[in-house]
Amino acid sequence: MDNTNKTVIIGGGIIGALSAYFLRKKGGSVTIVEKEQFGNGCSYGNCGLIHPTHVLPLSMPGAVMTGLKWMLKKDAPIYIKPRFDFGFIKWLINFTGKCNKKDMFDSAAGRNALLSNSIESFSTLIQQENILCDWENKGIIYAFKSKTDFDHHDQTDSWISKITKGGQKLNRHTLIKMEPLFNENVIGGWFYENTGHLRPDLLMKELKRILIRMGVSIIENTEVKELSKRDNRAVAVKTEGNEIEAGEFIFTAGAWTSRLDKVFDFKIPIQPGKGYSITMERPQNCPAIPCMLEEERVVATPWKSGYRLGGTMEFSGFDDTLNQKRLKSLISSTRKYFKNPEYEGTKEEWSGWRPMTYDGLPVIDRVPGLKNVLVAAGHNMLGLSMAPATGKLVSEMIHRENPHIDPYPYRISRF
Ligand SMILES: Cc1cc2nc3c(=O)[nH]c(=O)nc-3n(C[C@H](O)[C@H](O)[C@H](O)COP(=O)(O)OP(=O)(O)OC[C@H]3O[C@@H](n4cnc5c(N)ncnc54)[C@H](O)[C@@H]3O)c2cc1C
Repeated sequence: MDNTNKTVIIGGGIIGALSAYFLRKKGGSVTIVEKEQFGNGCSYGNCGLIHPTHVLPLSMPGAVMTGLKWMLKKDAPIYIKPRFDFGFIKWLINFTGKCNKKDMFDSAAGRNALLSNSIESFSTLIQQENILCDWENKGIIYAFKSKTDFDHHDQTDSWISKITKGGQKLNRHTLIKMEPLFNENVIGGWFYENTGHLRPDLLMKELKRILIRMGVSIIENTEVKELSKRDNRAVAVKTEGNEIEAGEFIFTAGAWTSRLDKVFDFKIPIQPGKGYSITMERPQNCPAIPCMLEEERVVATPWKSGYRLGGTMEFSGFDDTLNQKRLKSLISSTRKYFKNPEYEGTKEEWSGWRPMTYDGLPVIDRVPGLKNVLVAAGHNMLGLSMAPATGKLVSEMIHRENPHIDPYPYRISRF
């Protein structure tokens, strides 16, 4: 059978979904194989920000000191579970090595290439495909309680401004005029105009509908465990009792990429960075636009159809327990910034694993020694925002076209 025009995508998150979308538009057969339900991984319960100004990676000067300080606090936004995991220790050492200005700016440039058109891309996609996902493009407020952190953001913004459009500094008076919900603890803020937001669970539901309509086949509850290989090429993915043949294979397995080393005969250093969210009905006292509560690293995202609080970064491997302390801290954090936030009605508690690389850049490249196997994973804290450019780049690489952005920063050989 001729499989030249057949592509199998492993992983039905936002990266797999938009890779399938742009590939299918060029013709050929596309199949997504998902080990659970399409759209139910990290792409389900995230904060829904399309945030092109978030160009700076986690690995920035001072990040290690901040991390150590937070480790002494029980409900801190970052938590590292003490354990002996050689892969994670190596990852942490490499992360520490990247916390300098040069590496930060290199990473920021690569991130910016994937982020800079994200608002326009989502806007076009949502309009063209008539996607109902509470899309709005109103910006974001970063709110501060501490003078030290507020002052420190001047430097962060000056770094952002070297790469993309920076923010607007707001004193308390201007901030309260913009968002009257902030309480007396909040001393000032920054407004980043170029930020959109949408409801990720609705987006994924709509993308499933659209992909099926376009003729993409979606196979759920089917885990890819192995690759059948011949002469430096993959010929099929092996699942429980089945083989799916194709000409090209794209792994968009998010945080689980770290578990595919035996499949590739190659280790890609991606660590699961667990985050939490709580979704509820839109409360009466609700901010009009998304707010980042800076000191607590909590994002509050309001939609027409609801409200989500999300945040925290826990490095504890693939531990899927819902830590009630962390969930409660999402709610209690908002009380430190907003006037009388009352949350009533049913709440959905969720956790998901961000696919974290130590340099803040994803991997979009062919696997060494396997000519027709491509990986697109490791989008860190911004997979939703980076998905349209990634999907487009993946489709260009598969069709061996001139890429619309330089794929060099995302090469596997950097590890
Ligand atoms: C609390 C929180 C808030 C966030 N907020 C934002 C935000 O505001 N904006 C933003 O841009 N990003 C945000 N992110 C990050 C974003 O959610 C992720 O970067 C993005 O969802 C990653 O997408 P993905 O498709 O790579 O992974 P996933 O959505 O996790 O998809 C990977 C899929 O692959 C499947 N899979 C894995 N292995 C196999 C296998 N062997 N066989 C078959 N299937 C397999 C999994 O089941 C999964 O469904 C946030 C993340 C968290 C946790």
